[in-house]
Amino acid sequence: MKNSVVVFTDLDGSLLDHQSYEYTAAKPALERLERAEIPVIPVTSKTLEEISLLQLPFPQPYRIAENGMVIEHEGAVQIQGRSYDTITGFINDLPQNIRNNITGFGDMSVDDVIRHTGLDRTQAQAAKARKATEPFLWSGDEQGIEGLRVLAAQQQLYITQGGRFYHLMGKGNKQTALKHVLDAGFSGSQPVTIALGDGPNDAEMLGFVDYGVIIPNPAGTSFNVKDPHGKIMTASHAGPEGWNAALHTILDELELSV
Ligand SMILES: [Mg+2]
Repeated sequence: MKNSVVVFTDLDGSLLDHQSYEYTAAKPALERLERAEIPVIPVTSKTLEEISLLQLPFPQPYRIAENGMVIEHEGAVQIQGRSYDTITGFINDLPQNIRNNITGFGDMSVDDVIRHTGLDRTQAQAAKARKATEPFLWSGDEQGIEGLRVLAAQQQLYITQGGRFYHLMGKGNKQTALKHVLDAGFSGSQPVTIALGDGPNDAEMLGFVDYGVIIPNPAGTSFNVKDPHGKIMTASHAGPEGWNAALHTILDELELSV
């Protein structure tokens, strides 16, 4: 790609409203980006199938799914870290007393996923279509999860916590996926990079780009972003409204009068 600007965006709570999954308020900025032929690349904890279900109204030359561990470009899928089979194989090979405390998406029926997440049937099926991360419930104690962390690290597997679910995955995150896309997709001069996100798992990518936008999260999970370029801003509103306002501000600053 030869674009001079590229936008990377988290979905839930950033481009999409946390409750309704609506992005209507972001449409003016999305249309402006489209007129300027600036690509918008989703970077999300969702699976590729979940991204497809959203039917986002713009072309996505790349899609970054499962917290950066899955990168799709023109139908080709690349896995960072470890494959889903490797991850579930690790879980299944654990000593029984540890294994018994884990209920992963791979252990759950679609009905179980619906019950634990509140997703509808189609969404739950899409959420189960995993390639490189495994969300799981842990019924053991804190000490047990630390023990699991040690065993996982021996296999280059890592545990993060997001809400009710823990996530088991290989090495990498949203930022390493961005780096990969910029190296692979943009030959010659590097584009100006913009990223928007509302959660702790966005912090590294926001600190990595030229313009990082923190979208306020009403749920109040605060997080710190390193700001080496002095280019981190906090959007005026939560969700797509803040997304829209922040992008207009940045595009104005870049003097992209489209
Ligand atoms: Mg989010």
